[in-house]
Amino acid sequence: MGDFDDLLSANADYAADFKLQGFDGVARAGVAIVTCMDSRIDPLRMLGLEPGDAKIFRNPGGRITPQALEAIVLGVHLLNVDRILIVPHTRCAVATSTEDELRRRVSESAGVDASWQPFHVVDDQVRALAEDVAKVTSHPLVPATVRVGGFVYDVDTGRIDQKV
Ligand SMILES: [Zn+2]
Repeated sequence: MGDFDDLLSANADYAADFKLQGFDGVARAGVAIVTCMDSRIDPLRMLGLEPGDAKIFRNPGGRITPQALEAIVLGVHLLNVDRILIVPHTRCAVATSTEDELRRRVSESAGVDASWQPFHVVDDQVRALAEDVAKVTSHPLVPATVRVGGFVYDVDTGRIDQKV
C-alpha cells in the first residue's frame, strides 16, 4: 500500500476520460491569477474559466513575491497573458494572525522551535494588495498594455470585489 494510492487510483479514472490533450500551454483566455493556497479557493471556476484558460500562481496569502513576478513575466511575454488578477481572500490566516502567533502555533505542532521561520503576515490586507499591484505594474518587464487588478475573494459568499 502506498501513501498516495487513493489519489493515483482517482488519477487513473481521470486519465481514462482525459480530454485536455493537445493544448500548447498558453493562457487561452489571456488571464493570470495570483491567489492564496487556501483550499476554499477554486481559481478557475470562480472566474468562469476552464483548464487551459489561465496561468495560476499560488502561495500563502496570494502575495506578489519574486517567484510570482517570474511567473508573471513569463506569462506576459511567452504565454499570452494580458490581464492579471491578484486575489487574496477573507479569513486568510496570513492576514488575520501575527507573525508571532503563527510561529507559536507551528512550534506547538512541530515540537521544535519555529521562531526563525518567516511567514510574511499582512496587517492591512488592502494596503498590501495595493503594494502588490504596484509591484506588477511598475515591473520593467510588464508593459503598460497589461491590465492588473487587485481583488479580495470572500470565502463565505464566493464573490470577488475589486479593491485596486
Ligand atoms: Zn489564505
